[in-house]
Amino acid sequence: MPDDHPSAEAPANPPLLIASARGLCPQCNQPTLFATTVRFSGACRACGLSFAQFNVGDGPAAFLILIVGAIVTAMAVVMEVKLHPPFWVHMLLWIPLTIVAVIGSLRVAKAALLILEYRNKAREGTLARPGVTS
Ligand SMILES: [Zn+2]
Repeated sequence: MPDDHPSAEAPANPPLLIASARGLCPQCNQPTLFATTVRFSGACRACGLSFAQFNVGDGPAAFLILIVGAIVTAMAVVMEVKLHPPFWVHMLLWIPLTIVAVIGSLRVAKAALLILEYRNKAREGTLARPGVTS
C-alpha cells in the first residue's frame, strides 16, 4: 500500500526541549540555529529560513538571571551553613558554575522561544476594527 499522506515531506517536530537543547532549525530540524554559543545564525544553512524575523528579546536573559541567581545563592548559603568553607572555595565553585549555568540555559531558552514563535506563528499584535473579523 503506497503512502498517500500529503504531508510526508514535512519532518515531525521533535519535542521542544530536545529541539532547543540541540539548536535545531524549527523548519527543517537541522542543527543550524546558532552561529556561536548563544548567538543565532542569520538564516538556516540547510533550508534558508531567516532567523532574523524572530524576536526573542531580552526575556530569556532576565528570567534566567533570576532563576540561576536564586539557585546558586541557595546552594552557596546551604554550603556555608553546613560546611563553613573558606571564602576562596566559594569563589572557585560558584563563579564558574554560575557562568556555565547561565550560558547553557540561555542557549536553550533562546532556542525554545524562537522555536515556539515559529510553531505558534506568533507575530506582532495588531488592532482590529470593531465589527471586522479577520
Ligand atoms: Zn532549516
